Amino acid sequence: MSIAFKDFKILKFGGTSVGSVERMQNLAKLITVDESKKIVVLSAMSGTTNALVKISEYLYAGKNKEAESDINALYQKYIDVCENLLKDEYKDKGKTFVNSVFDIIRHFRNEAFTFTSKEEKIILAQGEILSTNLFHLYLQQIGIKSILLNALDFVRIDENNEPDIDFTRQVLSDILKNHPNDNLFITQGYICRNAYGDIDNLRRGGSDYTASIVGAAIRASEIQIWTDIDGMHNNDPRIVSRTYPVNYLSFDEAAELAYFGAKILHPACILPAQKEQIPVLLKNTMQPQAFGTIIANTFPNEGFKAVAAKDGITALQIKSYRMLLAYGFLRAIFEIFERYKTPIDMITTSEVAVSVTIDDTKHLNEIIEELKQIASVEVFPEQTIICIAGYLPKNKPGYIFKVAEALKDIPVSMVSYGGSDYNISVLVHQKYKKLAMEQLNKVLFNL
Ligand code: ADP
Ligand code: ASP
Ligand code: MG
Repeated sequence: MSIAFKDFKILKFGGTSVGSVERMQNLAKLITVDESKKIVVLSAMSGTTNALVKISEYLYAGKNKEAESDINALYQKYIDVCENLLKDEYKDKGKTFVNSVFDIIRHFRNEAFTFTSKEEKIILAQGEILSTNLFHLYLQQIGIKSILLNALDFVRIDENNEPDIDFTRQVLSDILKNHPNDNLFITQGYICRNAYGDIDNLRRGGSDYTASIVGAAIRASEIQIWTDIDGMHNNDPRIVSRTYPVNYLSFDEAAELAYFGAKILHPACILPAQKEQIPVLLKNTMQPQAFGTIIANTFPNEGFKAVAAKDGITALQIKSYRMLLAYGFLRAIFEIFERYKTPIDMITTSEVAVSVTIDDTKHLNEIIEELKQIASVEVFPEQTIICIAGYLPKNKPGYIFKVAEALKDIPVSMVSYGGSDYNISVLVHQKYKKLAMEQLNKVLFNL
C-alpha cells in the first residue's frame, strides 16, 4: 500500500520570513489562519548562515580572534531575539537554548582541534536549529500547540549527495501516525545527515529542497514556498529593473529556471515534487494575498515564460587530436567528467571539437590533464549561462530567432537549443550578463 498523507501541506519559510521578531510574530498568524495539517519548514534567520560560513572560514584559517568576535556578535543577536520575542519562563528557556548552541560553536575555537568540513557542517546547521527552536518556544508562549521535529532524524543524503526519500517516508510516516490529533509540525530546512551519519546540509538555499523532499516523501497535497517576493518573475529582479510574476509554470519550465539560477528555488527542489506530481506554490510572506506562482503538471501555454542566469561557469573547448570526431571521442570525454563527478551543463559540438561548460571547478586541473591525453583544451572562465525558459515547441518557427534578435549585439559563445521543448540556453562572458538579460526583457517580454 502506498503511503500518502494527502491532508498535509508543506509550508517552507525562507530567511527573511523568519528574519526578525516581528516576522516571527507574523508567521505565527499566517500558519494558524486555519487548522489544516501542516509541516512548516523553516530556514535560519536571514544573515545567520552567511555569518556561520564566515565564522567557519576563520576557524579553518586558524583566525580564532576574528572568529570569536563574529561569534559574540551573532550570540548577542540571538540573545536580543529572546529578549524581544519571548517572556517569562520562555525567555529563560530560549536563552538557555541559545547558550547551548553557542557552546557548541565556541567549542570549535579550541586550538587543539583540527577544523575540518565535518565541524563546519555542524556549525552551519545551527542557524536552522536556532530559528525552529525559538519559534517553537514562541508558539508555546502564545498557546499554539505544535510538534517540533528534528530534520536530522529523517532527512538523509547518500554517498552521491542524493536524498533518500524512502528513508524520509518511513521515519516521517511513523512519526505522523503517532500524532494523529496534531495539526502543526515545525522542522528545520537545509540540514540533514549524510551516508556516514554525520550532520550535513543540502547546500545553500537547501530549505526549499527539504520542503520538496518532505512533501514528496509523505505525498502531501501541496508544497508552498513562502519568500520575500510574489512568485517566480519573468526575469531576475536583482539584475533587471522591470519584471512581473509568472502565475503558472509547468514542472519542466520551473526545473530549468531553478537549475539555471532563479534563486527563488533551490536548483534541485522541483524534481521530487514533479516525480510525485505535487503542486508547488510560490508565495510572498509580506503579501500573502498576492497570487504568486503555481507550478504544476498543467500543460503549459506556448511561449517564453522567464529568463534566469547562472554565474561562475567555466567553458572548455576540447579539440580532438585526430582530424575527425571519431565515435568514442565523446565517450572518452564524458568518462573523464564522470570520474571526477563533475556535471556538464551545456554542450555543443563541431566536426573536430566539443565545447562543454561546468560550474564545479574543484577538479578542473585533473580534468584538463586527462583531457590533454586525447585532445587540446582551451579554458574560458568567468562565463554565464543565460537560460530562456518556456514552452518552445521545436516544430514552431521563430523562438530561436527571437532570442538571437535580442542578443544581436552581444558575443554569444555557445547556444543550446532542442535538448528539450522548455529551454534555450546561451553562454556569454559574465560582463555581458546584465545587458543580455535586459535585452531579452525588451525583446521577449516588451519590457
Ligand atoms: P528565501 O530566503 O526565502 O529562500 P531567496 O533569497 O533564496 O529567499 O529567494 C528569493 C529571492 O530570489 C528574491 O528576493 C529575488 O531577489 C531572487 N530571485 C532571483 N530570480 C528570481 C525570479 N526569477 N523570480 C523571483 N525571484 C527571483
Ligand atoms: N539557511 C540556508 C541558507 O542560507 C538554507 C536556506 O535558507 O534555504 O542557504
Ligand atoms: Mg532560498
